[in-house]
Amino acid sequence: MSQRDYYEILNVDRNASGEEIKRAYRKMAMQHHPDRNPGDAAAEAKFKEAAEAYDVLRDETKRARYDRFGHAGMGQQNGFQNSEDIFSHFGDIFGNLFGFSMGGGARGRRNRPQQGADLRYNLGISFRQAAKGDNVTIKIPRNAVCPECKGSRAAPGTSPESCRTCGGVGQVRHNQGFFQLSVPCPSCQGAGEVIASPCPRCKGRGSIHEVRELSVSIPAGVDTGNRLRVRGEGEGGINGGPNGDLYVVLQVENDDTFTREGQNLLVSREISFVQAALGDKLEVPTLDEPIMMEVPKGTQGGEIFRITGKGLPFPGRQTSGDLLVEVKVRIPTRLTARQEELLREFAEIDGAKTINKAKKIIKKVSQAIGID
Ligand SMILES: [Zn+2]
Ligand SMILES: [Zn+2]
Repeated sequence: MSQRDYYEILNVDRNASGEEIKRAYRKMAMQHHPDRNPGDAAAEAKFKEAAEAYDVLRDETKRARYDRFGHAGMGQQNGFQNSEDIFSHFGDIFGNLFGFSMGGGARGRRNRPQQGADLRYNLGISFRQAAKGDNVTIKIPRNAVCPECKGSRAAPGTSPESCRTCGGVGQVRHNQGFFQLSVPCPSCQGAGEVIASPCPRCKGRGSIHEVRELSVSIPAGVDTGNRLRVRGEGEGGINGGPNGDLYVVLQVENDDTFTREGQNLLVSREISFVQAALGDKLEVPTLDEPIMMEVPKGTQGGEIFRITGKGLPFPGRQTSGDLLVEVKVRIPTRLTARQEELLREFAEIDGAKTINKAKKIIKKVSQAIGID
């Protein structure tokens, strides 16, 4: 590391007191702090150098050894291993002067680029829209970067100036009894800069409220709770940061015809017991045109037939779920005399016991035991 004399680095006398060394380092650190000199390698080197010098001279033992042996006396203990070390004295000296934790940088976080907030929009769509996909126009109220000042908050042609009260630091020191406190600067509210002529469009806020119309593409097959991410359509970024994203959260209406089970659709159809027994062709609704489905002979009530690929598409894929057709068998509640006659005939052929047969048997039994 640096072989420059530590006293020279901090620009102090060899007999300087601890307090003088501290003050000198504070001045250096403020001047060369990386956050105040972004991208300036020379400043960063000076900042590190000052931190290293202060690390030795603040410590009586280390300072005595340095005074006797110079840099050679520091051996392996000398030098900072990583950037954490360099910032390690910040807490001691500056307290929370920079407005937030040490190690990350300096000055108010307000001046750093930040991504805008993400927005959520709840969108209700019909079952048809979910099944087939659609383009929906939505209106999003949001805070956008002011197009006039591009978020700088200053009127075009002007720029924010460093705050004179706090010297651009954003904090001022405050004596309170024995203590010295750092508080946000009252002139700039901690921003470190003041705007002499605010942007007329946004009145110096850097952002404007707008209602943005957006066309959102809904892929076929979406379901309730699905989120569509629209990049960059959230709130405007701060200090040149990127916009947030917009999340459109879908709520799909139920359908009168179909019951949804994932990407499968369930539909229920009734057939007569004759159709069930003899077999027939049955018209079944689908997402497109109705189709004819074969009901085989001897179909039982509650039986489910699967028509593959006639369900809902999987979003973004070439495949679809199935259509499940539940067949319900309708038993007639009223029969004409002719229908009843034919059914009894059927029953006799079938070998089943008809009600009349049963009645006859009961009658015979009753007569036999003498209660008729
Ligand atoms: Zn503006
Ligand atoms: Zn200020």
